[in-house]
Amino acid sequence: MMKLALLCAVLAGAAVPAAAGKAASGIWVEAEAFAAKGGWVVDQQFMDEMGSAYLLAHGMGVPVADAVTQVTVPAGGQWHVYVRTYNWTAPWSDKRGPGAFRIAVGGKTLEPELGATGSRWEWQEAGCVQLPRGTAELRLRDLTGFDGRVDAVYLSRKAAAPPADGEALTAFRRRMLALPDDPAEVRPYDFVVVGGGIAGMCAAVAAARQGLRVALVNDRPVLGGNNSAEVRVHLGGQIELGRYPALGRMQREFAHSTFGNARPAESYEDEKKQAFISGEPLVELYAPWRAVSVRMAPGAGERRIASVVVRQVESSREIALTAPLFADCTGDGSLGVMAGADSRYGRESREEYGESLAQEKADSTVLGASVQWYSEERPGTFPEFDYGLPFSDESVQRVTMGEWTWETGMQHDMTREFERIRDYGLLVIYSNWSYLKNRLGLYPERSLGWVAFVSGKRESRRLLGDYVFKQDDIDKNVFHEDGTFSVSWTIDLHFPDPANTKYFPDEPFKARTRHTPVYPAAVPYRCLYSRNVGNLFMAGRDISVTHVALGSTRVMRTCGMSGEVVGLAAGVCHAHGVAPREVYRSYLSELQALMEKGAAVEGPLPDNQHFNTSSVLSAPRLLKAAE
Ligand SMILES: Cc1cc2nc3c(=O)[nH]c(=O)nc-3n(C[C@H](O)[C@H](O)[C@H](O)COP(=O)(O)OP(=O)(O)OC[C@H]3O[C@@H](n4cnc5c(N)ncnc54)[C@H](O)[C@@H]3O)c2cc1C
Repeated sequence: MMKLALLCAVLAGAAVPAAAGKAASGIWVEAEAFAAKGGWVVDQQFMDEMGSAYLLAHGMGVPVADAVTQVTVPAGGQWHVYVRTYNWTAPWSDKRGPGAFRIAVGGKTLEPELGATGSRWEWQEAGCVQLPRGTAELRLRDLTGFDGRVDAVYLSRKAAAPPADGEALTAFRRRMLALPDDPAEVRPYDFVVVGGGIAGMCAAVAAARQGLRVALVNDRPVLGGNNSAEVRVHLGGQIELGRYPALGRMQREFAHSTFGNARPAESYEDEKKQAFISGEPLVELYAPWRAVSVRMAPGAGERRIASVVVRQVESSREIALTAPLFADCTGDGSLGVMAGADSRYGRESREEYGESLAQEKADSTVLGASVQWYSEERPGTFPEFDYGLPFSDESVQRVTMGEWTWETGMQHDMTREFERIRDYGLLVIYSNWSYLKNRLGLYPERSLGWVAFVSGKRESRRLLGDYVFKQDDIDKNVFHEDGTFSVSWTIDLHFPDPANTKYFPDEPFKARTRHTPVYPAAVPYRCLYSRNVGNLFMAGRDISVTHVALGSTRVMRTCGMSGEVVGLAAGVCHAHGVAPREVYRSYLSELQALMEKGAAVEGPLPDNQHFNTSSVLSAPRLLKAAE
């Protein structure tokens, strides 16, 4: 931490008075709670890793407008100002980092540039200010547009920063925010769905259309997960196929209707997704709220979730949502893992499930994450950006946009190192663009138009059900009595692009893929509920499949159908007061009858889902490597 304490004391000309009490000793401000965010964006992706949502100055190299808020100052006098920040290029370079910013307090801009030194999330001391009792303005002034970040600001009467991280920081933060251990407010539902990607949306609406009162919790303000305008992945796979051709039809109600990744925001038609959810009177949407912990039901029997605690991403307000049934549609299996559900990460060995496409030995490699981007026709310069990566005339990518092939983090942990994985995605884009513009003099007529700050994940933890869907089920189109929605996408397994690995052996950032054709195999219902948490469903990319089978099940139209089946099954559970496993054991015919009908509204719907469908072996078309 920068040491300015001595300077503060000299400026004040007096010893810092001891604080009278905890409340009077400090003023805590979560950056994401700033009243006016200016050009800074709220980033919640790494709350589990570094403890909080934060503000990010994502200006693609152009400083963003100030974020401003007012604080109440309980006592006049000298205040020490601390800012929790992170020099995000530190994993790759010892240089002063690019994410520099300053803070102004009570109208005084403090001298130190923050966010450009250090190598982890830490409190940096900005200096001291004299403040009168009353209100004071805090202002974050971005200096670069290169992703400076602020978790929280702490004003203290003493020269003492809060704890650096871990449980001590969590406890301190909760105390400063006056958050009780258990939320005071508890809201009951019939079904709580966590994750508002395509899978979660379909699960929530399918259940609501069975008469269940549903809470849908999403930690981003917009719905759709990777298909939102924040990530910009187009929907893939086929709907309305296989044993239950009514499944998937509901997606026509909200799905976008044009092909393409990394296109302008309007291509993803987020307003249709919002209208789809808002139009369901029994679905209550919590966005942006993040599920942060669970309370388990007491008793010695099977594990059951009693409630999930959700936190409003900007205000930090917490409430508990109770229900007899929950669905994990987080993609990461986060809800399940918090509840102690059995899960799996990485690639299985070839022997474990008899999969020819698997590795000989199990490992922790997964499909990578993508920060997609594009430039647009607008003449402009770009700052020098060089933080230790070996870009050269040979290794540089001579392109004006990057979509799914720009992929990072295959060898890193998608749940514990995701900030680093996302940051590497940003680093390579800026470094490459800088090299093209400044060293090679290319594209003077172009400027960066969009660089995602929400990184698109393909794979992390998978929750284990009573059955694990595997390559053989797809290869042999194995009949399962509890078969539900069908796969249609190839087994699409990515690997680092050798042409890129040659120059960036430690951390490649480009990927290629192999496509293996599939039959429209029906995924068993037993893959859609946890094998050891009695009231937990899952839908989307965290269902019970092997890494190889995920290569096919992970596309979003298929994920949506998994959500639809979960919503229908929740209806059966609700009608009989039973847990998900009982639907398989005793009420399968009821679920099958519901799947015959599907959850779409009755009547004509736009026929808009014929792009990026990949192909199935029973279909006459040639296989298309479309992703
Ligand atoms: C670059 C790229 C290209 C791809 N190409 C294609 C393609 O062409 N077609 C295709 O269909 N698929 C494609 N995929 C795969 C596909 O996008 C994912 O497999 C799919 O998004 C999974 O859907 P999901 O609903 O399970 O999860 P997600 O889309 O990841 O949605 C999960 C949602 O849950 C929210 N969430 C997570 N944790 C919490 C929590 N604790 N509390 C509250 N909310 C939470 C997230 O913010 C998100 O909104 C691609 C993926 C990438 C990254």
